[in-house]
Amino acid sequence: MFRVVNAACLKAAGAPQSTGLRAATGRHFHSSYDVAVVGGGIVGLASARELILRHPSLSFILLEKEKELAQHQSGHNSGVIHSGIYYTPGSLKARLCVRGATLAYEYCEKKGLPYKRCGKLIVAVEQEEIPRLKALYERGQRNNVRDLSIVDAKGIREREPYCRGIMALDSPYTGIVNWRMVALSYGADFEEAGGTVLKDCEVNDISVVVESTSGSSEGMKYPIAIRDTKGNEVRCRYVLTCGGLYADRLSQISGCSREPRIVPFRGDYLVLKPEKHYLVKGNIYPVPDPRFPFLGVHFTPRMDGSVWLGPNAVLAFKREGYKVFDFNARDFADALSFRGLQKLVMKNITFGIGEMYRGVFKGAQVQKLQKYIPELSVNDVLRGPAGVRAQALDRDGNLVDDFVFDGGVGDVGSRVLHVRNAPSPAATSSLAIAEMIADEFENRFTL
Ligand SMILES: Cc1cc2nc3c(=O)[nH]c(=O)nc-3n(C[C@H](O)[C@H](O)[C@H](O)COP(=O)(O)OP(=O)(O)OC[C@H]3O[C@@H](n4cnc5c(N)ncnc54)[C@H](O)[C@@H]3O)c2cc1C
Repeated sequence: MFRVVNAACLKAAGAPQSTGLRAATGRHFHSSYDVAVVGGGIVGLASARELILRHPSLSFILLEKEKELAQHQSGHNSGVIHSGIYYTPGSLKARLCVRGATLAYEYCEKKGLPYKRCGKLIVAVEQEEIPRLKALYERGQRNNVRDLSIVDAKGIREREPYCRGIMALDSPYTGIVNWRMVALSYGADFEEAGGTVLKDCEVNDISVVVESTSGSSEGMKYPIAIRDTKGNEVRCRYVLTCGGLYADRLSQISGCSREPRIVPFRGDYLVLKPEKHYLVKGNIYPVPDPRFPFLGVHFTPRMDGSVWLGPNAVLAFKREGYKVFDFNARDFADALSFRGLQKLVMKNITFGIGEMYRGVFKGAQVQKLQKYIPELSVNDVLRGPAGVRAQALDRDGNLVDDFVFDGGVGDVGSRVLHVRNAPSPAATSSLAIAEMIADEFENRFTL
């Protein structure tokens, strides 16, 4: 028996399949689709867009649990268009970031979306950082990052008059953009191409059906049933999940592996007071600590003219929890009971406590930032917004560095592709990730 309904989306149970349903937005929704994409962040939207542009004769639906698209990582990030310096040569991150940055600039140009190619300096302030800075330069060269150069203290001051350092890596190709705006534009492209977007639709079951829709002449053409928390159902042939902070749970509900697990790391930003904006022209980053996947606390100008400082990285007690005291019992128990996280905490306890301390005490964070801009004082900053990173972790407590995409086995697993780990720079890489996912769909499935 086939039911066609949605959350704020599909609210007309029993409507005949052939006529489709009219949802709150006034659009018609049908019950069966060739491809369903779960997750309306930048990765899901870019991928849905790429798939429908390549396969306009197929039907597509994108299911998002929030009332708006791109509300989580894609709407809470630093807004940097990364150039691809940091990543291991040959890794997916390296390849997809370099290509993604080029595609992102082209896309923004074509769509008239505002961006600024304001550049970035990675600044060494201690002698001991210089070998690491030079290694980053080599790495960037191997990754084919455009226009990289090493500059000395004078070169730093020419580019950033208030920044001090002994040597820096200059990346003029790095830029800034509002990634949420870009994600919404991908969504608009998808809908213009005929795709359906259903919001307020939290998927909690993906399974194979044993019988076809009653009265359907299409037999078992759509063997996968996707249900939401309100009991509504959509059927499809193939599924792509891009669940961000819930990537592991979406994989688990489709019968695929729960690991790597997602561990949420909250990052709090400070913001510069407007009268101090003159201190920062472009992005100023530290030389990253190779033990961690995060790039370190940085100065980032925003498209709205503000300047953000941060983010730090503290373990969050709630996935998608943006405030210090946000807590979710299931998320907390889930994280604590995972051996991988226990090992990670044991290995990095000092770093973790330091990050929490700097999160609570503004002065401690500012002290770190003063190494780069000595003129900065604690009175120049205010507390700003926060983001939560979805970081995949293996059972040995290792942070999974590269992007991870995988499918599964069995009836559902053979029809599903999961985006398991898409941390930074996945926004920059989104159009290149989408190309790769569309290629993978074409290789794996009979579209
Ligand atoms: C603090 C921070 C700073 C960053 N800075 C940068 C940067 O400067 N440059 C850069 O390139 N990248 C940056 N990133 C990384 C980038 O933002 C993310 O990699 C990217 O947004 C990931 O997109 P996504 O679509 O995978 O995830 P998300 O944007 O989190 O989207 C996942 C979506 O899935 C939905 N979903 C989850 N479960 C379900 C369900 N059961 N049913 C339906 N829908 C569901 C969620 O509601 C969400 O909308 C940063 C990230 C953070 C957190």
